[in-house]
Amino acid sequence: MKLYKPFLLFEEGLFKPDRALVTDGGKIVSVGAYEALVARYPAAEIISWPDEIIVPGTVNAHNHSFQSLLRGLAADRPFLEWRDEALYKYSPYLKAKDVYTGAVFAFSEMMKCGATTVSDYFYVHNEGIESDEAVIQAAKDVGIRFVLARTMYDWTGAPTGYVESIDEAVKNVKYLAEKYENDPMVSIVPAPHSLHAASVEMVKAGHRLAQELDCKFHIHIAEEPFEVDQVLREHHMRPVELLDKIGVMEDGRMTAIHCVWLNDHEKQLMAKNHASLVYCPSSNMFLADGITDIPALMDGGVTIGLGSDGACSNNRISVFEEMRMCAMLQKVNKLDSLAVNYHQAFAMGTKGGAEILQLPIGELKPGFSADFVALNQNDLSMQPISETHEQVLPNIVYSMQPTAIDYVVVNGMCTVDQGNLKTLNEKQIVLNVQNLMNNINNEASKS
Ligand SMILES: [Zn+2]
Repeated sequence: MKLYKPFLLFEEGLFKPDRALVTDGGKIVSVGAYEALVARYPAAEIISWPDEIIVPGTVNAHNHSFQSLLRGLAADRPFLEWRDEALYKYSPYLKAKDVYTGAVFAFSEMMKCGATTVSDYFYVHNEGIESDEAVIQAAKDVGIRFVLARTMYDWTGAPTGYVESIDEAVKNVKYLAEKYENDPMVSIVPAPHSLHAASVEMVKAGHRLAQELDCKFHIHIAEEPFEVDQVLREHHMRPVELLDKIGVMEDGRMTAIHCVWLNDHEKQLMAKNHASLVYCPSSNMFLADGITDIPALMDGGVTIGLGSDGACSNNRISVFEEMRMCAMLQKVNKLDSLAVNYHQAFAMGTKGGAEILQLPIGELKPGFSADFVALNQNDLSMQPISETHEQVLPNIVYSMQPTAIDYVVVNGMCTVDQGNLKTLNEKQIVLNVQNLMNNINNEASKS
C-alpha cells in the first residue's frame, strides 16, 4: 500500500492541497485529507511529493505505434502521397520483431509525455497474429495500459500484410479478445479500418463482434474528402449516413476517429446514436485534412476523446499537446475563444478517452486504476501559480512542457521516475530504432 502526498491533487475538477491518494496494487483505494488517511492507513508507505501536482494519466485513444518508425519521412506531402511514400513504402518490411521495436519506441515516448493508456490501431499484420502479439508485448514491457484496436481490413489496394478476409479478421480478433479477457492491462476491440479500406460486410462483422464481446468498435470516418466522394459515388449517401443505414450505429458502440468532413445531418446522426469520437487535431493539421466541428458534436452530447494518431502525421505523441491543439484550433476556426475551453480539452484527454475505451481510468477516485501523472509545479512552464491555484489547469493545457512531467504511475507501478523511463533502457531503444531503420532503408532501396 502506498500513500502519495503531493502539493496539489486533482479531484473532481479542483486542485486541492493537503490531500493524499492511497493505492493498493493497481487500484486507488482512497482519496482524502492527508492526516485522516495517514491515521486510517498506518502501514502504507508514504511517498512525499511536496512539489508535485497529481493529475489523472492521459489517455491516448488513437495511435498507430509502428508509424513512429516513419517519423520525418515524406513530411509535408498531401495525404495520399504521404500514405504511398511513407506507410505503403516501408510497412511491408516490418516483421513482428520490428513492430515490437516501433511500439516500444512509441509507447515509451508517449508515456514520458504523460500517457498512461494507449489505444493502438494496428493493421500491419505481415506475420499475422504474431504481429499483434508483438505490439501487446511492447505495451507490457513499457508498462503502459493497452487497448489493441485490432484492425479488420479487406481493401486489396493496400500492402498485402494489411489485408485479411472477413473470416480471418473475425477469427483473429476473437482469438486475441479471448486470450486477454482477464488481463487487467490489455483489452482488445474490433476496428474495421474505414469505409475506404473495409467493405460494408467487414464493417458489419466488426460491429457484430463488438456486440458479441460487449465493447465498442473503432473506425476511421471522413478523415479526407476522398472518402466522402467515394462513398457518395458508390452508395449515393455520405459516410455516416451509410453506417447508420447498415445498422452499425444503433446500439451506441461506434467510436469514430477523425470525422472531419461531416455535414449537419451526419453530426445529428452521431449524436442521436450515442456515437463517440476520437479527435486527432495535430494529425488533421499535419496532413491538411481539415477541421472537425467539435463544438457541434459536443453540443449534441457525443463523447470525445483525444488521439495523437501515428507519430509520422503529428509528429509529437503527447495527449497534453492534443489538449492544447484541440482548444486552439477550435477557437481560431470558430473565431470564438470559448469554442473549446481548457476544462473541456483536459476532460477529453482524460475521462473522455476513458469512457471511450470503457476502462476505470481518467479520474482519481476509489476503485479506479492507479494511473496518474505528477507534474512539477516548479517547472518554469507551469508558473505562475498563485494561492488560489486558478492558473494550474490553464497552465497544464496551454503552457506546460514535457519537462514538467516528473513521475508516471501506471497500475500502481512507477514507470517514469524523475522524468526517466524506468521500465526499459532508453538508450537501447534509440539504438534499436536506428539499426532497424538503416536495415529497412537498405531493403527498400534494393527493391
Ligand atoms: Zn488513424
